[in-house]
Amino acid sequence: MADNIKRSPKRLTVISGKGGTGKTSILGAFAALAHNAVLADCDVDAANLHLLLAPKTHKTEKFFAGYKAILNPQTCTACGKCVEMCRFRAISMPDDSAPPIIDALVCEGCGVCHDICPADAIVLEDAVCGDLYESETRFGPMVHAELGVGGEMSGKLVTAVRTRADEIAEKNGHGLVLIDGSPGLGCPVIASLAGVDVALIVAEPTVSGFHDLGRVLDLCKHFGLDACVVINKHDINPDVTSQITSCCSASKVEVAGEIPYDNAFTKAMLAGKTIIEYDAAPVADMVRDIWRRVAGLLGIEQE
Ligand code: SF4
Ligand code: SF4
Repeated sequence: MADNIKRSPKRLTVISGKGGTGKTSILGAFAALAHNAVLADCDVDAANLHLLLAPKTHKTEKFFAGYKAILNPQTCTACGKCVEMCRFRAISMPDDSAPPIIDALVCEGCGVCHDICPADAIVLEDAVCGDLYESETRFGPMVHAELGVGGEMSGKLVTAVRTRADEIAEKNGHGLVLIDGSPGLGCPVIASLAGVDVALIVAEPTVSGFHDLGRVLDLCKHFGLDACVVINKHDINPDVTSQITSCCSASKVEVAGEIPYDNAFTKAMLAGKTIIEYDAAPVADMVRDIWRRVAGLLGIEQE
């Protein structure tokens, strides 16, 4: 009998406690190995997956979140009340007899000025926070974004990227969404981890890297996520590598693999290729092995 059950795609987020751990190189390699996953670049504050995958964008949309206050100088009576009431100091009045000026980069869109203006001279408009892109890469569709100048709400932008990637995956029957998460622990990271099947944490064996790993593992535990770890550049500090493996073992977190320092990653990145395409032995084979283990955790069948 035909299996008519529609299955949701699996979701894997690759994260790290800090930037520069090789997270995006590993995500790019997984994209090459996964065969037609949907890619979601959720590192919206410092997106760089596009450097590796050269996406061809076919759809761009403005992303709106929150509000900005806009003043109508024709209606304003220059009473100065909004200047007094804005606790973010976004409104200034250089000339007492002229309408004040609102600094859009400082305005938090709280709406107080709009509410208290006796002349109804201030309106709140939807704020543009960035751009959302739908693209095609040599490994499958990709959704990515760019935060606007002074843009905040990066957590909401991450959620928008993930939602669109999920929609594309479900509509076109992709079995996997690969998510490049933000480094650190802030709002965008939490948004990139919510509801995923597996979180892969890329850690470097430095004292700060070990500390960051502990915090990211705590975050995954807090959200009840299955996590596994890759130790990148494991040979730069064998003592800390050993501490990381002990910590993972104590926390019952699988170490999916260890990769030595190898400048082939940088060379591949400069060539615009993943380490799999660059085929630099032996690290490319190590990444293949890691992918097999992660795919096993996700329950994805491998050829
Ligand atoms: S409160 Fe309204 S009328 Fe008064 S200065 Fe501000 S914008 Fe102008
Ligand atoms: S919306 Fe809030 S932050 Fe923005 S200018 Fe008005 S009072 Fe200030």
